[in-house]
Amino acid sequence: MEEVLNNDKLWKEALVEIELSVSRANFATWFKNTHIIKNEDGIVYINTPNTFIKEWLSDKYHKSIIKALRNISPTIKNIEYLVSVTSKNMGVTKEEIYKIEEIPTQEEQLGFNEFYIDKESNLNPKYRFDNFIVGSFNEVAYAASLAVSDNINTLYNPLFIYGGVGLGKTHLLQSIGNKIKETNLKVKVQYLTSEKFANEFINSIQNKDVYIFKEKYRKYNLLIIDDIQFFSGKLKIQEEFFHIFNSLYETNSQIVFSADKSPKQIEGLEERLRSRFEGGMMVDISKPEYESRLAILKSKAEEKKFFPSMEILEYVASVIQDNIREMEGALNSIIGQSKIKGKILSLNEIKELLNKNTKPVKTINVNELIKIISNFYNIEERYLFEKTRKKEIVKPRQIAMYLLREDLNASYPYIGQKFGGRDHTTVIYAYEKISNDIKKDIKLKQEIDQIRKNICEISL
Ligand code: ADP
Ligand code: MG
Repeated sequence: MEEVLNNDKLWKEALVEIELSVSRANFATWFKNTHIIKNEDGIVYINTPNTFIKEWLSDKYHKSIIKALRNISPTIKNIEYLVSVTSKNMGVTKEEIYKIEEIPTQEEQLGFNEFYIDKESNLNPKYRFDNFIVGSFNEVAYAASLAVSDNINTLYNPLFIYGGVGLGKTHLLQSIGNKIKETNLKVKVQYLTSEKFANEFINSIQNKDVYIFKEKYRKYNLLIIDDIQFFSGKLKIQEEFFHIFNSLYETNSQIVFSADKSPKQIEGLEERLRSRFEGGMMVDISKPEYESRLAILKSKAEEKKFFPSMEILEYVASVIQDNIREMEGALNSIIGQSKIKGKILSLNEIKELLNKNTKPVKTINVNELIKIISNFYNIEERYLFEKTRKKEIVKPRQIAMYLLREDLNASYPYIGQKFGGRDHTTVIYAYEKISNDIKKDIKLKQEIDQIRKNICEISL
């Protein structure tokens, strides 16, 4: 006969197994404060803190949960997910959650953590491993960071994390610092950006107290320097840093860096420093896939006590692909607008809201677009169609192709044909070049924003 397990024990055992198949941060996000409240006629009733988590568990983790439960108790047939009546949300129904009273103010959403920075270490306690969502795009960087925070200096020294903007580098770096500070009060931790480091160094030269600066940085057990690409081309600072690095390394201190590129790709970096960076563990963070974007968005929404429908979250996760910070920004503007309007926005309103800042709402035709671009760059329209490789023509032409594709949804072959019968691969090249350049080149981004504004004006 099967032993009758009490509910708590059953759930505890199941969680041990579930935890193996789910990353640590996701596990903490979705399974905390869940309980089994009843196990009757083969149905297990699981209480969750809110509808949001309830939906997520039943949508995404149902299979793992039922498998784990059946391993322990094979007679279990199914699971019912409930919303807790004892938790803060007191059995709110979905409709109630949608009421505007549930949307906290900006300050409430941000919470005090957002503004609080520890003076001694420069760390912001809001960046933690347990609110960091792990997916295939960042799991290696996450694992390496966790390993370093469990055991400084025995592994991976230095740790170098690189990847594009808004992908979680700072979050990971600070999580390492925060975790180490929590677990070992004696460890002296310092977090700063390379820019701040450079400024301090320059000030110390001006104040003629470089020796104080040098002393200060040699005493840390864990030094975390964010965005090291800023050292590029600054040889004097690189030299100073090189000595500090060596001295820390020799005294078994842990050093952690981030950069937007790998050491090889950072220009103007002294060879000896580059080889130090490469001498430890290098890991990159790539762009998050859809599933991870959705999980991050859900957990951010929950942190802010905002519970939009799955449809809305799926929409946001599908349109914002490259940057987690931008995704958070979109979520904040949805919350802000919902507050103003007194209700959670509809999907259509959200589509409009997210489009407004980036793309013209109404469309114009190709000729109008060409006219706007040639006016903007002060060149004759006909040049855009000619087969010239002059720089001052190539760029506006590529921007025209980009905007036709991005904002007017024109097909590549159509655009090629419009521009003097060019091959569609030329158009794809132009589109991709501008898409990439925008991310790096602020001036280009501003130009394109201005062109879009001009388009909006004539299309209204
Ligand atoms: P980077 O330093 O790479 O530019 P950040 O670490 O500043 O990026 O991340 C941008 C924002 O996205 C931050 O608010 C951060 O908390 C959030 N974020 C990034 N990655 C994750 C993740 N995996 N899980 C949860 N939040 C994340
Ligand atoms: Mg950063």
